[in-house]
Amino acid sequence: MKIVFAPATVLLLVAALCAQQATVITKWYKGNTHAHTIKSDGASTPENVAKWYRDHGYNFLFITDHEMLTPVDELNKLFGKPGEFSIFIGQEVTDYLNKKPYHVNGLGVSSIIKPNRGTTIVQNVQLNIDSVRKAGGVPQVNHPNFGWALEAEQIAQLKNVNLLEIFNGHPLVNNLGGGGSMSVEQMWDVVLSSGKLIFGIASDDVHTVEDPGNPKVPTPGHGWVMVNAPELSQRAVMDALDRGDFYSSTGVELESYAVDKNAVVIAVKKERWSKYNIRFIGRGGKMLAESFESPATYKIKGNEGYIRVKVIESNGKAAWTQPLMISSK
Ligand SMILES: [Zn+2]
Ligand SMILES: [Zn+2]
Repeated sequence: MKIVFAPATVLLLVAALCAQQATVITKWYKGNTHAHTIKSDGASTPENVAKWYRDHGYNFLFITDHEMLTPVDELNKLFGKPGEFSIFIGQEVTDYLNKKPYHVNGLGVSSIIKPNRGTTIVQNVQLNIDSVRKAGGVPQVNHPNFGWALEAEQIAQLKNVNLLEIFNGHPLVNNLGGGGSMSVEQMWDVVLSSGKLIFGIASDDVHTVEDPGNPKVPTPGHGWVMVNAPELSQRAVMDALDRGDFYSSTGVELESYAVDKNAVVIAVKKERWSKYNIRFIGRGGKMLAESFESPATYKIKGNEGYIRVKVIESNGKAAWTQPLMISSK
């Protein structure tokens, strides 16, 4: 049996060994990697978007307007606070093919990327991923089911990309699939089962902060990441995302998550009236085990393919850890 640790889990493993216990206390920075303003097709100013995230307990926000690098220096002077809240630069590269949308976020890119207009689906997405890398950014494949554009087999062929949106807060992106089409989470399992490691991101894709509760518009506060970075800087957060040092959430917070060669241990920060199902998921999306208690421990057998954890809360909120790839030999 060979266990291949993602760097993320190595870090946690080291932390766990140092602490000589399963509970790992680290600083998790809360952030959103997908946001629009009036600089592209959003309805709120960059100032109002930054203010909303600062006022709601976030530590960082990537502004990712379409084909635009919305400046963040002035915003950081107005709303930033070292170590507590920062606004980072980004772009959503907005491509299409055969009238279907193919969008790739470029987190922290140094220049605006012109969509490459590749002529096959895989090439279309790949060229934009490559451009994001060339511009020093971290690519994120966005909302595969928006316009029912991307399929799991195509995502599995992509290279040089580590982030896939498995939850997007926009009301028209079909996260859950349906009508014979896979949910984005099922697609994630297909990609992982093919042996390709890719990390699952939850984001808002916010377009307005001034119309709370309107189910027809993309509002803030739906999906986010908790990033284990050494400091709150754009570089440190980008690197932590790229190596999978984060978990994704729509409302469940974790108290700890630790992995060693024998077991995966997870604990949830419990809300008073909430109940939780903690699911350990492996190859083919198969549920390996389920616990109703926190902390929950899964003993690694070695034939799982990969192990990821999904926590489901009794009001429908969730958290997703990143997969631990396991290859048996
Ligand atoms: Zn998009
Ligand atoms: Zn978007």
